[in-house]
Parts: sequence; structure tokens; C-alpha cells
Amino acid sequence: MILIGNGTVITRDVGKPFFRDGCVAIDGKIIAGVGNSGELRELHKGARFIDAHGGLIMPGFINAHMHYYSAFSRGLSVGGAPAQNFNEVLERLWWKLDKALSLEDVYYSAVVCMIDCIKNGVTTVIDHHASPSAVGGSLFRIAEAASELGVRNCLCYEVSDRDGRQVMEDGIRENIDFIKHAARDESGLLAGTFGLHASMTLSNDTLEACANATGDFAAGYHVHVAEGPSDEEDSLKKYGKRIMARFRDFGITGPRSTAVHCIHVNDEEMEILQDTGTAVVHNPESNMGNAVGVSPIIDLCARGITVGLGTDGYVSDMLQSWKFANALQKHAQKHPNVAWSEIPTMLFDNNSKIAGRYFRTPTGRLLPGYSADVTVLDYRPPTELTEANINGHLLFGASGRAVTTTAAQGRVLMENRVMSDIDEDALLAKARERSKKVWEKV
Ligand SMILES: [Zn+2]
Repeated sequence: MILIGNGTVITRDVGKPFFRDGCVAIDGKIIAGVGNSGELRELHKGARFIDAHGGLIMPGFINAHMHYYSAFSRGLSVGGAPAQNFNEVLERLWWKLDKALSLEDVYYSAVVCMIDCIKNGVTTVIDHHASPSAVGGSLFRIAEAASELGVRNCLCYEVSDRDGRQVMEDGIRENIDFIKHAARDESGLLAGTFGLHASMTLSNDTLEACANATGDFAAGYHVHVAEGPSDEEDSLKKYGKRIMARFRDFGITGPRSTAVHCIHVNDEEMEILQDTGTAVVHNPESNMGNAVGVSPIIDLCARGITVGLGTDGYVSDMLQSWKFANALQKHAQKHPNVAWSEIPTMLFDNNSKIAGRYFRTPTGRLLPGYSADVTVLDYRPPTELTEANINGHLLFGASGRAVTTTAAQGRVLMENRVMSDIDEDALLAKARERSKKVWEKV
């Protein structure tokens, strides 16, 4: 039994959102109780006590769209003419980097990102992976990193035609092998879904092969949709229909599928998302950096679509993603009063719902029966913190760098900024060594 107490507990549950001088009681992998610090300490005498030192005790964050394979891009200069549009960003950076990765590089890319997740209080990640020169076994290497570091992961391999038929077929096999493996896994750390790159690199034959391969697994699909305008143009030109209509016709949509970005979708496509229960994940910092446009998230939310929040590999700080999403909507709509409620709903409620589509134990709230995924932030409010203004404090005052303690499934991954299970310096040194070789290949 572990108690994390002496802080302000923010449960993200509407029933009881807030406990001043609160505490979370953890029994094994599950939250056993949430309440007053003194009362829970009295009730569970002898339990290990982790002191939040008056900070915020919150659910571990969920990142609904991530690319671990992008880790070695930090500081990389690809040379040549600078990219003029999003397709050139893909061709000149990402499709060169992913091709240069070996299975060992995939592992270390995942390790360094998961270290960053733990430091930012992220305990659950839905990752979208590509390593065309090392497809077979790649998700299993990421899963190995996940069990060593203790971060929960839903994994998939992005099937695409861009590297030829063999790599495409290997990608299908890797998805299926991992989905089967994750379904048998008892650790609670792993889940699998079926990864697809984007409409513009997937032929009809390939989509058909993917739909046939998934058969009865019902693991859903995780696919980029209308990130740049060229994705919709390509679909209309080659297939005479828009992306979501195309995906619906192949059975790619559904209540376990996620359409990432959805920047250039039209009304008809939003209806398809809504009717099929397909989730959407918004990645504001990535969209701004790639200059691809603004996702109509307010409209998507108003239609009742489950819109979650991700980082697309840019960062692992979900509070930073919230700040970007907030400013982006206000700026784009030229209105200072939009998006106050939608984005925290996306980050907490909807990311929790999306994770719940893949993992058996619910996460994202501090409630009895939920997975013991807890994070502590060193945050001392300069003004009164109440039930009613939690979001204002988090948006304007907190960041991932304030995280001091992170626990996932009851395993304490970092306590007072110390990760005692791993040798961080040695792992980072190894990553730097490997990344040099990857850069040479790029
Ligand atoms: Zn992405």
C-alpha cells in the first residue's frame, strides 16, 4: 500500500473534483481510495507515504498521439534546400529519419521519450511508429522499453505504400503480431491498435489488405487524416471522394479508431466521424510548426465527437500542448473567449475515454478502481485555488517541468525528481552514441 498525500488532490471527476489536504491510497496497481490525508494515513497505518509537500496531486497525463521514433531528430540538420510545404517536410526529414533507424535505435528512441514522459507526468501514451528498414519486431522493442520504464503504451506500426510492397506487408504483419501479443499481455502496460500512415500513401489494395488482415481483432485503426491540404486533394483526384468517406468505405472508421489531425475535413466528413464514433486527436504545436492549418476542434467537440489531445512527437508535456491549443484557437478565431472548456475536456475527459478504448483498466481520473497513475506537481498557487478555478491555475501556472513524482500502475517511476529504477545518464549517453550513427545515414 502506498499513500501519496499532503497536497491538493485534483481528481478530474465531476462528482468530487478537489480535496484540500488530500491523499490518494494505492493498493497494488489500483487506486483504493481518495480523501483527506490525515484520515487515510490513520486508515492505512504502516503504508509507504509519499509527501507531495503541498503541491498538486493529479492523474497521470495521457498523450493520445505520439511518435517515439522522432527522438533523434533533436538538433538534426538535414541540409539541402529548406522544405517549402508539409509534404517536403515529410520527404526531407521524417521519411529519411525513420528509414535510418535500426531495431536498437527504435528501442533507444522510445527509452529517451519515455524518460521525458515520466518527467512530465505522462503515464499513458498512444504511439504511432515507423522504421521501414526495421519493421519486424519494432513494436516489441518499444514494448520492452515500456516494461523497463513502466509507462503504459498503446502501440501500432504505420502501414504505408511509400517504401514498397514488402515493407507494407511487413507493417501489416507487425501490427497483427503485436495486437495479438498485447491482447495476451497481463501486465496492463500494453495495448495494440492498427497503424496506417495517411490516405495519400495508402492505395485501395493496401487498405483492403489491412481490413482483411485485422479481421475479427476489432483493435481499431490509428491514422493521420487531412493533416495537410494535399491529403484531401490526393484522395479526391485518385478516388473521387474525400478521405473520411474513403476510410468509412474500407471499414477504417469506428469506435476504436482514431483520426489524427482532421484539419481539412468538411461537414460531410465530420458527420462520418460522428456517426461512426471515430475519435479525433488534435496536435496544436505540430500543426503550427508544420504550417498546415487549424483543426476545427470547437466544431468537432460541439458535434459530440471524442476529440483528444496529443503532441505528435514534439514534446511530452501535455500542459504545454494545452497552452498551444488554447492560444491557437483564440488566435485563429480572432476571439479571446473561445476554447476555455473544450481543451481541458479533451486533455482529461476525452484522452481518458480514448485510452479506455484500448486498456482494460480505466485511467485519467483519481477514483477508486482506476489505474494508479498519479503525478505530483510542485505548484504553490499565488492566488486562491478552488474547485471552480482549477483549469485557470493549470493553464497559466503549471507546466510539465513542475512534476516531481510520477507513478504508473502503482509503480513509482520518479519520486522527488529521482528515477531510482534506471540509470538515466547511461541511457542518454547510449542514445547520443546511436543518434550520431543515425544522423550519418540521414
Ligand atoms: Zn503524427
